[in-house]
Amino acid sequence: MTAPPLAYLINELTRLPGVGGKSAARLAYYILKRPAAEAEALANAILEVKSKIFRCSVCNNMTDVEPCAICSDARRDPAVICVVEEAFNIQTIEQTRDFKGVYHVLLGALSPLKGVGPQDIDVAGLLRRVRANEIREVIVATNPNVEGEATALYIAQQLHPLGVRTTRLAFGLPVGGDLEYADQVTMAKALEGRREI
Ligand SMILES: [Zn+2]
Repeated sequence: MTAPPLAYLINELTRLPGVGGKSAARLAYYILKRPAAEAEALANAILEVKSKIFRCSVCNNMTDVEPCAICSDARRDPAVICVVEEAFNIQTIEQTRDFKGVYHVLLGALSPLKGVGPQDIDVAGLLRRVRANEIREVIVATNPNVEGEATALYIAQQLHPLGVRTTRLAFGLPVGGDLEYADQVTMAKALEGRREI
């Protein structure tokens, strides 16, 4: 029988996405083998992101300053907004170094099956930004799957009356896949080949 404190750690680790029982056990035993200082650093890092990181009030990106480093970067073009589902998708697009605009994080994607409707994601915040600022282009970079496509279509419908150019990434990205699995070259091509929607 697994000692209860160890079972507790394994159980907590299985809550992480993509971590099954076997991986959780492997990680727990690994942590156990390492010096106490290392385990403490890991535990502190987890507590610190929870206490210091919050959402940027402009774009919903995860940040420790308000507004976030991207929104407040004067070298970036605030007239081009790239729309992504989750804050971690920003990393994928940033790795191309080709995108010099700003972001809007929706905090999800439309999914009738999961009961996620337009009120549950932050399209309203995007529309507010487009109405309040001179926006040249909105690039919709939701995932190339059913939910991402439905979300892109909905956003395009909402933006058309506002007369702002709306584009979608060219997918080259594996259909049905997630943005996060796109490598740097694929993402750069997707961005370059974007088309009007
Ligand atoms: Zn921001």
